[in-house]
Amino acid sequence: MAEIYSAVKTALTIAGSDPSGGAGIQADLKAFAGSGVYGLSVLAALTAQNSLGVHQTWPLTGEQLRAQLAALIADYPIHAIKTGMLASADAVNALADLLPSCPLVIDPVMRASLGSELLSSAGLSAARTRLWPKATLLTPNIPEAEVILGVSIHSVNDMLRSAQAFFDFDVPAVLLKGGHLLRAMGGQSDECNDLLLIKDAAGPIWLNSKRMAKKTHGTGCVYSALIAARLALGLPLVQACQSAHAALQKALARAQPIGQLQRASPDLFSADYIKADYDPARC
Ligand code: PLP
Repeated sequence: MAEIYSAVKTALTIAGSDPSGGAGIQADLKAFAGSGVYGLSVLAALTAQNSLGVHQTWPLTGEQLRAQLAALIADYPIHAIKTGMLASADAVNALADLLPSCPLVIDPVMRASLGSELLSSAGLSAARTRLWPKATLLTPNIPEAEVILGVSIHSVNDMLRSAQAFFDFDVPAVLLKGGHLLRAMGGQSDECNDLLLIKDAAGPIWLNSKRMAKKTHGTGCVYSALIAARLALGLPLVQACQSAHAALQKALARAQPIGQLQRASPDLFSADYIKADYDPARC
């Protein structure tokens, strides 16, 4: 196929739908738009959910994923990809056969914070062997890392050891998100420290922030989408992660609680809405 030139940078999310808008495809597209990148999307699963949790999921078939992805590849440049909820081994295998070559951020989404399964165990095995070796960056949180590695993570040293262990899966870089360490440390820490470890790099990089007293939804989805957007814009990996981390902190500071459980999703836009010279008569 002829090279397609475009000044527009694109990022593709391959993930599940969250009709409540705070996570999944819907959140990723907002994160791309808020980063100045044109968003493309391939749906891997439908969900029925609200602030109370994920009530039901319907994985799409490998064939359905392949058709969506093939249509995009045939017509658009794709400058970076992120994957989120992939649901099944069928979906993972379809992707592994067809993914174009560009920076790939894999958020190994396995379970929603309120408990529902978002990736089968066969899907996890397929992802480990077929998808992760293609990744630029893997972004597990602590509960995901504990399940994947079969370890308990209770300290900063445990985080360092665990991040290192991901290199055994042929992953070139890991961003181990430390937000859940509070629970492991008995609620002592008011900080949230994420660890970026890159194979063959000089040393670990910590991305630190103050913990916000908010119940959140979709933070992990938005974080990996913000990183993918920055890779699409051409930033090197370390700067992409640092810039995405800073953007996420701002978006979380603005996030407003919504729904019965009052969970807040990263908000990349409300400051613009408030600033906008909005005239309803013109809409
Ligand atoms: N729904 C979808 C489609 C997701 O991808 C995710 C997380 O990745 C969730 C729900 C759960 O988000 P949270 O655990 O932040 O509530």
